Amino acid sequence: MLTRAHRLTSVAIVEFGLIATNHLFTNPVANFMLLFATAVGASLPDIDEYNSSASRKSIINFSLFLRHRGITHSLIGFLVFAGGLYYLMNKLMPIQFKSFTLLNYWTALWLGLVIGYFLHLIEDSFSHQGVDWLAPFLRSKKKRILLHYKVGGIFEQIITLIAYVSIILMSLYWVWNLIHSPAKI
Ligand SMILES: [Zn+2]
Repeated sequence: MLTRAHRLTSVAIVEFGLIATNHLFTNPVANFMLLFATAVGASLPDIDEYNSSASRKSIINFSLFLRHRGITHSLIGFLVFAGGLYYLMNKLMPIQFKSFTLLNYWTALWLGLVIGYFLHLIEDSFSHQGVDWLAPFLRSKKKRILLHYKVGGIFEQIITLIAYVSIILMSLYWVWNLIHSPAKI
């Protein structure tokens, strides 16, 4: 998937999750942070790709020494990212999970980045190339899931369009609800 497709699909999934669990209206600012961080997190695994938007923004071009869809696209890579980020961020300011509705912005930022990263891997799992979840220990030959799409192909474009439209609709619903029930802000 292209970066834009990853961002839009992941944000749509998380926003839908917030609506489905009735959490969208409880803490608008934290939710906005969560969605924003999801968009950023969803672009991070492709830091191993030479010309990805994550690589272009990074000071070091990691693609020069990382195989594409190697360690950043694996369970270990995900755990190192999530754990390392937790450790670093928690040192600066504590990350707390008292209750989801009381998510502070810092926690929402961490959670969004981690969820975005994870969703990127899930989304890549459905592409032709697939994801080597157990890399570098086991390299599975058959990575493809039954239903798969071609990177940049028509299926990906349709999914991206659906995600785009649903984000707009969900956000309109969100804003409409906030205007009509100001007490919840
Ligand atoms: Zn990827």
